[in-house]
Amino acid sequence: MDEKTSCAEQPIHYFAETAFLPTGWANNVLITVDSAGWITQVQSNQKADHAIGLNGPVLPGMLNLHSHAFQRAMAGLTERVTGEGDSFWTWREKMYHFLEKLTPEDQQAIAAQLYVEMLKAGFTTVGEFHYLHHQQDGTPYHDRALTSRHIIQAAMETGIAITHMPVLYAASGLGGQVPTDGQKRFINNDTQLMEMITSLMDAYRDNPQVTMGLALHSLRAVPLSMLQPAAESMRRMNKTAPIHIHIAEQLKEVNDCIAWCGERPVDWLLKQVEVDANWCLVHATHMTERETRALAKTGAVAGLCPTTEANLGDGFFNLPTYLAENGHFGIGSDSHVSVSVIEELRLLEYGQRLLHQKRAITRMPHTASIGASLYRMALAGGAQALGRAAGAIEVGKRADFIVLDPTVPTLLDKKEDFIFDAMLFAGNVNPIRHVIAGGKQVVKDFRHVREEEVAEIFKNTYRGL
Ligand SMILES: [Zn+2]
Repeated sequence: MDEKTSCAEQPIHYFAETAFLPTGWANNVLITVDSAGWITQVQSNQKADHAIGLNGPVLPGMLNLHSHAFQRAMAGLTERVTGEGDSFWTWREKMYHFLEKLTPEDQQAIAAQLYVEMLKAGFTTVGEFHYLHHQQDGTPYHDRALTSRHIIQAAMETGIAITHMPVLYAASGLGGQVPTDGQKRFINNDTQLMEMITSLMDAYRDNPQVTMGLALHSLRAVPLSMLQPAAESMRRMNKTAPIHIHIAEQLKEVNDCIAWCGERPVDWLLKQVEVDANWCLVHATHMTERETRALAKTGAVAGLCPTTEANLGDGFFNLPTYLAENGHFGIGSDSHVSVSVIEELRLLEYGQRLLHQKRAITRMPHTASIGASLYRMALAGGAQALGRAAGAIEVGKRADFIVLDPTVPTLLDKKEDFIFDAMLFAGNVNPIRHVIAGGKQVVKDFRHVREEEVAEIFKNTYRGL
């Protein structure tokens, strides 16, 4: 990037020799960003003049629609045999044990380190599905939303935009079973949770970096008597606020649901509440053909987390049927065993190829490029699921974009959609050289601007755990 700077209160002008716009690839693009970080003008076929040069192909930054930040510090610690039948459920016990001691400050330090890694990997927005609310013994902090504020502060420190979704968690199993000891830090009823969300909405109302939403942990953790009122209350506060829920990730959940109410989880949810385009069903791994078509028709987003789903042995999402019905999807790094746009999208497509013994599964009309199809669908689904004006380089959207290094061998001489294909399917070098988030450069020459400082705090936190 050229060494030119602009006064913080003035509009900033960026110049891209080639950029991906909603209308397609464009050359010599001048992008104007206001002091609050929004794009106010995009013009092709311009001269650079005094604009800041972005020397490489420019793409919209990706949205990471599903994150549990604290789990980043567990990555690599749960890959051991612990007995017969290691599964999602044995992993969950380790996760409960890991989080027992985390303080709000620890959570912030881990989240800041994670968000630096996300920005370097091409994610410019994160959807935080946040359930670690209370003190170690389960009593709420004096401010019930304290840990949420620390997570949002980590986003502020690093520059990533955040859709923060405090999680409603009230039971250990279907039908409102009593929570276990390992879950005591998560528990709120719907009234308590909505009060937290209200206070956070008030606190961050004028902050363009923050959007608030609601997360319902799962059908096992949220009884129907709380699920419906919480969703309705969120809708009254903001009729377009995101509502996310984990669903049908594991076969055991599906079987438990059938044993409890006679229906499969997605079937049951769609009958109980009005699922619409503001909803995101995270995982939705185990659906019948009929459920898959029904979910696609709601206009909701399927939140797919391929590396975590692979790590936990969840299974494969029914992608071909879902796409045939114009279903929307986005990607998340969830437990953060990997933090990479490239790895999530590549594994999503490769998993389907292995499963169906075919190539070119994730395809869109009007492009032959699987890379472009994957990237564009994940951008649109991510922006929709997180309720953010982001995911495209156009007027009115957040100025979130990434600049690829055109000297990376796999990107050499690549033009237009071949850039997406080469980025996602060729090689293991991270080609993301610069990242602009909210109009500010947060990654420069592969380094985050606060990388050392954030890493030092993380190191001290991690060693103390
Ligand atoms: Zn999750």
